[in-house]
Amino acid sequence: MFFIIFYYLNISFLSREKNEKNLYLGINRIENWVIQLDKTCKWYNCCPIKFFVENGKLEKKWVEDYCLIGNKNCIRYKLEMKNEPHPDNMLPNGEIREELEY
Ligand code: SF4
Repeated sequence: MFFIIFYYLNISFLSREKNEKNLYLGINRIENWVIQLDKTCKWYNCCPIKFFVENGKLEKKWVEDYCLIGNKNCIRYKLEMKNEPHPDNMLPNGEIREELEY
C-alpha cells in the first residue's frame, strides 16, 4: 500500500512539474509573438528622439515614421547597431538640429 501511495504522489508531483514547465514555455511563446508583432524600435524607450517629441521639442512625425514602425533606415538605429557614437540632436534621417537639447 505504501508503495502505491508513494508511486501516485511521485507521478502527480512529476506531472505537475511538467505542466508548470509547459505553462512556462507557452507563456514564453506568447511573449515572443507579442514582441514580434510590436514593431517599435528596441531603443525607443531610451532614445532622445522620444524625449524630444514627448516634450514638444520635435514634430511627432519622427516617431511615427521611424520609431513606432521599426524603420531600419533610421540613421540613429544604424549607428547604434554599429556601436558608433552620435549626438542626441541627430534626427532619424541624419540631420542635426542644433536647437535640440535636454
Ligand atoms: S530615432 Fe531611430 S534609434 Fe531612436 S527610437 Fe527611433 S528608430 Fe530607434
